Parts: sequence; C-alpha cells; structure tokens
Amino acid sequence: MYITDNFDSGNIRVIALQDPQDIQLEIKHDNQSEFFQWFHFRFEAEQAQSYQFHIINASQSAYPQGWQGYQVVASYDRQQWFRIDTDYDGEQLKFSLALEQSSVYFAYFAPYSYERHLDLLQTIQQDPRVRLSTLGQTLDGRDMSLLQIGDAEQAKHKVWVMARQHPGETMAEWFVEGMLATLLDEDNPLAKKLLEETVFYVLPNMNPDGSVRGHLRTNAAGINLNREWQNPSMEHSPEVFLARQKMLELGGDLFLDIHGDESVPYNFVAGCEGVPSYDARHQLLEETFKQAYMAISPDFQDQHGYAKNKPGEANLKIGAAWLGEQFKTLSYTIEMPFKDNADLPDEDYGWSPERAMQLGADVLFPIKQSLARL
Ligand code: ZN
Repeated sequence: MYITDNFDSGNIRVIALQDPQDIQLEIKHDNQSEFFQWFHFRFEAEQAQSYQFHIINASQSAYPQGWQGYQVVASYDRQQWFRIDTDYDGEQLKFSLALEQSSVYFAYFAPYSYERHLDLLQTIQQDPRVRLSTLGQTLDGRDMSLLQIGDAEQAKHKVWVMARQHPGETMAEWFVEGMLATLLDEDNPLAKKLLEETVFYVLPNMNPDGSVRGHLRTNAAGINLNREWQNPSMEHSPEVFLARQKMLELGGDLFLDIHGDESVPYNFVAGCEGVPSYDARHQLLEETFKQAYMAISPDFQDQHGYAKNKPGEANLKIGAAWLGEQFKTLSYTIEMPFKDNADLPDEDYGWSPERAMQLGADVLFPIKQSLARL
C-alpha cells in the first residue's frame, strides 16, 4: 500500500499503513493556522480488495458538524468524482472502497486544480469581449488574475464575481466556470442581452496560494481572507488588498462572493441585512435576486441557511458585508454544499462540479432581474 499527497492541492498525513482495514490518516492544518478540513490524496494498492480509511483527527477539524451526513469523493481518472460509503462516529471519519483499479484519488470535494485555473483564464481571454489582467502577486508569487467581460465604456452596470477566498471550497470555481461559459455563449439570448448593458469583473480564484497548498480556509500566511476586508495589507493579505483597490477604483453595482459550506446541505445566500446602510432599496434588490434564482433553479432555496444578522450587527471584515456597505448595493455571499442539496439529492455524486457549473450558469438570470431594479 502506498499513499501520496505530493501534488497540487494534496493534503494528508499517513499515521499507519499496515492493516488494509485500518489505514490511519490525519489532515494537515493550513500553514500558520489552526484550520483544517480539506484533504486530497492518491492511494495505490492491490486491486479487487477492500480498504478502510480512518481520518483520526476529523473531530478537531474546523467544522466537525460538516462530517455528519457527508460522503467522501473518489476518482480513478481525476475527471469523474463519485461518492463512497462514509461514516462519522463523532471522532473519526471512516470510509471504505473496494479497489477496481490499483490507483485511486480521494478528496473532500472534486478538486479544481491550479492548471485548470490557468486553462480557464487562457481559454476565456481568447474571446474578443474579454480582457485578462494581473492585479499583482500573492505571497507565494502567483498572479492575482482579473477577467473583464464586456465593454466598460458602454456598460450601464458593473457586476463583480469572486470565488475561492476560502481555497478548499473548490465548488466556487466550478460555479464561476459554468457562469463564464454561459455568459460567453453567443447563442444564449439572456447572456447577449446582459452583456449589452453590463460589464462583468470576475476573480475566479481569490486564493491561488491556499489552493495549491491544499488549504481549507487561509492563504500562504495562514490568513482568513474573508476577515480582511476592512484593513487588508500587502504584507498579510495582498489578495484582498489588490482586489479591493480595483473595486474602489472601478466601482460596482452588484457583488457576488462564491463559497462552499461544510455543514448546511443546501444552496443559499447570506445578505447584507446587518450592514449600517441597509434600507428598503437594498432589501428589494435582495428579494428580487432570491425570487429570480428560485424561479430558474430548484437547486436554490431560501428556507435553510445562516441566521440573519440583527440590524447594524454585520461583521464588516467579511467581504460581502464590507462591499455591500461600501457600495450600498446588492452584495451576496453564495453558499453551496460540500454534501448535497437535500431537496434534490443525487445518490451517486452528491453536490458535484456539474451541478455547481449549472448553478453558476443560472445565476445570470437573478443578476439580470436585480440590475433591472437599479
Ligand atoms: Zn467560505
């Protein structure tokens, strides 16, 4: 038996690898941080036999309640990620697989690799309506890349979409890939209409260092970027500093920050009801967005989600709240599940890249409806 995590976004530590029925593993914490939950590794062994894995530090992870009802994803070809039998006993995460081939990958959710991120940028920028630019560099020296879609000169509205402030939430970049493909589909009338009057600014990966390092929640310096929006610095959080600077320079009419939630088995939004400037207009924009999203996608709902903030009690260190207050307009955090949408479950795949991409494609309709209210 052999296990490795020595690749892009790999994360596992081997504790014991003698007994095929008791392979003991630990998830490594993010660099200079206590957070951990993301795992991703390759396992090699004799095929046609069954193996049982135990993540022995699961209960100390960032969101232990996230393991309840959760199923690990596995893949033989690194393309299709299927769910496997998983059990959480309050201490360890246990999962087993009868190997069909001698080598298999396991992960917390279908990975979105750094190479795929670079492919996405390069593919999208071939469209004449797209401009790729580099805002600056991360602490590990990677590019902070911004895609502009549409004509800024003639646009009436500016929409910002960013993903993966929390790098382990890979579904967020799958979402953005689906959104971009639909937005640039010249046979899609909604997208065509939207681009006549709107320019999109998209940050597909806000945390490339954390992504490559196999982090759950932080950048190379162990900083949770989604708590940096009031006072970002080039020293600790250049990702937010650079994005925020550009947003302040260009302005914006609608902001979306895409995430994944470890615990809640639904797609939902977290809004700005707790920011100081929240008013009837802001509320109307939020209601319009939610109603339109529910109308177009049964994968989106508004029953389950986070507890609402009391007036004035929003944490303005959080990106969506800071942006909503700064620009006094619709600014949503969109959350997708690591598990599945319990309203519309898929036994084989759970919540998946394909479904995240579809939800990303469908977000254009609520964007359009909300912009019409401005
Ligand atoms: Zn998040």
